[in-house]
Order: sequence, then structure tokens, then C-alpha cells
Amino acid sequence: MGATGIGGTASADAAAPDAAHGQYGRDDGLRPAHFHGPRQLLVPEVLLLPEGPVRGRAVLVEGGTFRRIGPAEELLRAHRDLRPVRLDGRLLMPGFVDAHHHLTQSFGKAQSFGQPSEIFKTVWEPLEHALDEETAYLSAKLAALEALRGGFTTVADAGTRAPVDVAAVAKGTEEAGIRCVLGKIVSDGTGGPAHLARWEKHPLIHPSLAIAVPEDATATVIKHAADLCAEAGAVLQIHVNEHLASVERSLKSVGRRPVDYLHHIGALGPHTLGAHATLLTPAEMRMLADSGAAISYNPVASAWKGNAVAQADMLAALDVRFGMGTDGTRGDGFRLLDAAESAQRLTSGMATGDSVCGAGRRWLEHATSRSADALGLGRVTGQIAVGKAADYLVVDLAVPELTPSYDLQWELVRLANRDLITAVVVDGRLRLWEGWPPDWDARALVQRAAKAGPEVVRKADIQRVEPR
Ligand SMILES: [Zn+2]
Repeated sequence: MGATGIGGTASADAAAPDAAHGQYGRDDGLRPAHFHGPRQLLVPEVLLLPEGPVRGRAVLVEGGTFRRIGPAEELLRAHRDLRPVRLDGRLLMPGFVDAHHHLTQSFGKAQSFGQPSEIFKTVWEPLEHALDEETAYLSAKLAALEALRGGFTTVADAGTRAPVDVAAVAKGTEEAGIRCVLGKIVSDGTGGPAHLARWEKHPLIHPSLAIAVPEDATATVIKHAADLCAEAGAVLQIHVNEHLASVERSLKSVGRRPVDYLHHIGALGPHTLGAHATLLTPAEMRMLADSGAAISYNPVASAWKGNAVAQADMLAALDVRFGMGTDGTRGDGFRLLDAAESAQRLTSGMATGDSVCGAGRRWLEHATSRSADALGLGRVTGQIAVGKAADYLVVDLAVPELTPSYDLQWELVRLANRDLITAVVVDGRLRLWEGWPPDWDARALVQRAAKAGPEVVRKADIQRVEPR
């Protein structure tokens, strides 16, 4: 019954030869084996609930789902058959949800540094076109592993341009064990219904349709894809208003800015997820708010290659739904939180004298539950709540960075990093222990990627401006 507890049996310890504690770990007896089995009664020092961090609570995980959450004493009494897993000095929090990623771009991350805007044309398209089934799978699995290490339990892939079946991407994420919103590009107007039906009821793959940018498809195709997503409860992923060049191209070709255009053709609704939206007019913000459409706020992407930073504080004030995404920049949830806050401080908070800029909590919420909501997974993940999937992190609190603690949520945004993550659990299953999978050879994957990645990059016709 997976009923091992701290100071547990010799077999629990013996079953965890991989439990060597790394540079940042501490050996208080907690072992990967404590997270195995169909039921766990977890008793963390601090539990991050939707209303904030609380102490003295326990969580019952059963069949990959949070079944009960309540006072620790009550749950311990009610489940005497289970040996509690005591997480003293640790936080149990929801895993991060990356609302915008490109899993088949992981071989070219540093190729994008220092490049002029719209690198999708000069770097990403050539790189993805050079992938085959095997290297697309490898790239996706590498990206999924990096995401898990950074505390993400869900990633949304915005649709690969690689000439492969998206099943290659699904295989990579499935094997790594991360939840994936799997976009499929349908700019030619075909394949949507089949893709949406293909992954129905899959525990970790949630299908989604994608059109890379509005100019890639006709108005009819975009509207149809949006309607299909609305019917299926999926999201249509589309990049909008990211670069000045694309906004101006849109104005010249259809007479409207991208968000305004989507609104005009009836494609903006609760099932639309626009990526970036860094260059929004007040009127476009209103359209997003009124239509219930969501966007992904991708602050690291802005820092690395953007023309602007999305006005996330403003969007929050206008009740525009938004999640947070990496855009494949770096798969580190805590550094994403930090960037989200810093970007708002630097672009608006300083100018208006707002030293709060969301008080930390805002970014934590938008990187978890609100990201899940933006992906149409609000009922599935993003929170520690009864009935939701057990997608969670165990974070070490007994570290100098978080001591003493006065406002844990804000401290997580500014002071935490991924080295503090002891365990990453997706759908109730332990996927990482101190940064590495307990049940598959991730070092071998990294070695394979180190060899295959540069070969793909060599083959691809990447057009780089050499930074000086
Ligand atoms: Zn993107």
C-alpha cells in the first residue's frame, strides 16, 4: 500500500539506492520510496493552498488525485492504515504550469541569443525543419526533463513545425512524465478533429490546435479552428502582437492589429490562448477582457528577444486571463517568477512608484492555477485542491535563502530556486528526486542530446547575425 513513513522500513531505504543526496539535499530520512504506491498521506510543514500557505494540514493522494485535504490530526486519525510521509521543514506546493513552450526547439536555445526579433523565421523554422521523428522525440524529451527539473509539471507545446507526427513529441513528454498540452499546427485547415479526438482521455496528453501566427492561415481556417477547440474544450494557441514587425505586417495586410483582427473574425474567445501579447493597445486589452480570451505572459522571452514586455499588471487589473510561459527560453519555474515580477517593476512599477507589483502572490498564482486555467486545465491541475491531479513539488524550506520566513509566497518569487525542489510528482507519480528521475537514465538522454543536437543545428539552415 505504499504505506512507508519517515524512519520507515529497511526495505524502503534499501529500495532507494538512487537516493544519494546531492549538493543541495539534506538527509532527513526522506526517500523516493515514500512517494511510491497508490496512496500517500503527506504531512508537510507548510502546504500551499489557493488561499495561501498553511501549517498543520495533511493531504491524502489516491490514484493520482488529491482526495482529501484537512487538519493533519484528523487525517492521521482517519487513515491509520497508512504510514504518514512527514515532510518536516518542507513545503508542498502545486507544480508550475508552462503556458507557452516549443519542445522541439531545445537543441537551439543558445542559437537564439543576440538575434534580431522574429527569430522564428531565421532560427526556429530552419531548426525544426531539420528534425526527424527521432530527433524531434529526443528534443521534446530533453525539454520535458529540463521543465521537470525547473518545477514544471505541465507544459503547453505551441505546435511543432518539424515535419513529423506530433506523436513524437507526445512520446518524449510521456516518457519523461510531464503533463503536456499538445498543440498541432492546423494552418492548412486540416487534421484538427482527428488530433482532438486522438488523445481523448489520455491521462497526461491534452490536445490543442495551433496556428503559429494569424498570417499563416485564412480567416475561415482560424475561426474554424477556434470553433473546434471551443467544442472540444481545448485551446487554440496562436502567437499575437509579439513583435513590431508582425503588428505592422498585419496592419498592412488586413488593416488591423493581430488581436483586433482575431476579434474581428470571431476567433477570440475563452478557448483562445494568445502567446506573448506584448504590444497591446488599450482597445485590444478590452477585447481580451470582454471575450474571455487568455494570453501567456512570457517575461524571459521579452528579455531575450522581445520588443516589449506584456503589461501583465495592467492585464490583471482588467481581469484579462493570463498564464505564464517560458517560450522555450529556460525551464526554470522560480526564475520565471522572478523575471515576471522584475519585468513589471522595470517597465511600469518604477515609473509609477509601485514597489509592490503584484506582491509576489500574483506571479505565483499566474504560474500555477491561472496558467492551468489559460490552458483550459483549470479543473485538472494548478492547485492543491480535492479532485485535482496530484501534480506537486516538495520544496526544502530549511535553507538560508528562506530563513527566516515572513511572507513565503513573495519569498518563493524572489529567493527560491530549483535546487530547493526535492521531489517533482505528476499525476501522483514521482518523476524527479533531487533533479533526476528515479526510474530512468536521464544522464544517458543528456548524452544523446549532446551528440544529436549539434548535428541537427549543423544540418539546419539557421541564419544568425553574429553578436559582437
Ligand atoms: Zn512561441
